[in-house]
Amino acid sequence: MTVAYRIDLEPCINCSLCRKACPTEAINYFSTGRRIHVIDPSLCIGCDICAQVCPPQCIHQDPDYVIDPGDLASALDKARAFAKKRHALKTERKRRALAVTGAGSRA
Ligand code: SF4
Ligand code: SF4
Repeated sequence: MTVAYRIDLEPCINCSLCRKACPTEAINYFSTGRRIHVIDPSLCIGCDICAQVCPPQCIHQDPDYVIDPGDLASALDKARAFAKKRHALKTERKRRALAVTGAGSRA
């Protein structure tokens, strides 16, 4: 059964502690001026860690919570774009490291 947790965005200070602490990576965010954090109920296991680390205590269990599909899609798009960028950076770093090693072995 899916356990619904809701983030009350009004007091949220955008610290991202919940996102970093979530063991199932169920929390992502998108931005429309400020970060809007979204919990994906399909990934949430109800561990309550996010609620415990949230400084203003604005994450609560809410069985009636229905996520806005548009918000979830935006948050997932942002997460995918970030992952893609991180992968590209990692690949580029690897390429440069190999280039340096290669240059060193030719010297
Ligand atoms: S309750 Fe646990 S699994 Fe669900 S969003 Fe919070 S940290 Fe993630
Ligand atoms: S831990 Fe709380 S204040 Fe920080 S981003 Fe998450 S919901 Fe917002």
